[in-house]
Amino acid sequence: MNWKGHTILGLIFGLPFISSPEQIFLVLAGALYPDLDHDVKEDIVKRGIYISFGLVFINILIYYFKNDYFNLDLFILAVSVLLIYLIPYFANHRGITHTFLALVFVSIILGFLALKLTIFSPILAGVVVLYMVVNEKLLGKVLVIALFGWIILDILKLNPAISGSLSYILPIAIGYLSHIVGDSTTPAGVKAFYPISDYKLRKKEAQILTGIWFLMVLYVWKDAILSLLIFKII
Ligand SMILES: [Zn+2]
Repeated sequence: MNWKGHTILGLIFGLPFISSPEQIFLVLAGALYPDLDHDVKEDIVKRGIYISFGLVFINILIYYFKNDYFNLDLFILAVSVLLIYLIPYFANHRGITHTFLALVFVSIILGFLALKLTIFSPILAGVVVLYMVVNEKLLGKVLVIALFGWIILDILKLNPAISGSLSYILPIAIGYLSHIVGDSTTPAGVKAFYPISDYKLRKKEAQILTGIWFLMVLYVWKDAILSLLIFKII
């Protein structure tokens, strides 16, 4: 599946889990991250490695020369972001980045990064995280689709029962899940349980995952659905 397919599927999967419009960028970051293992994305990965390695290095310098300013949280975050790029750099195509293990790891790291960046601006946080996984050319195209999703959100005024750091992590995880579902429908399939198992997910498993996604949608919207049903009965 190409970036367009993953972007659209990501939006469909992600919309019910978004509590503010800028989180669309997070859904799309999750939906597009797994294909960083592709040769043509090498420029994005290399750029990420240089920047995050630079941040790690600056943190080490601060530790040794200005210890009072050293912040362990920032250091851990910088190392984690470096790992986020090292994984696709060394991975084979449709390897480790297309697994549930990477889904959990990447969603938590990018989610916390977005959470930290919201002190500057929530929109900036979303765009920065999205920019981390796309190049300039793709960013423009993806932003157009994201803005379209933003308008839909603004009209629907969705408000699922998700709060705190989960409202940053979950949109990325759902976007990521949509990528695994999308690739499972292709003839090559996806070994999403690697390294635990080499079992390959195909169309049937994609349907099961879509079913799980639907149950999750019902769960986060249960209060709204219940109140709607009660309102109808009364
Ligand atoms: Zn893929």
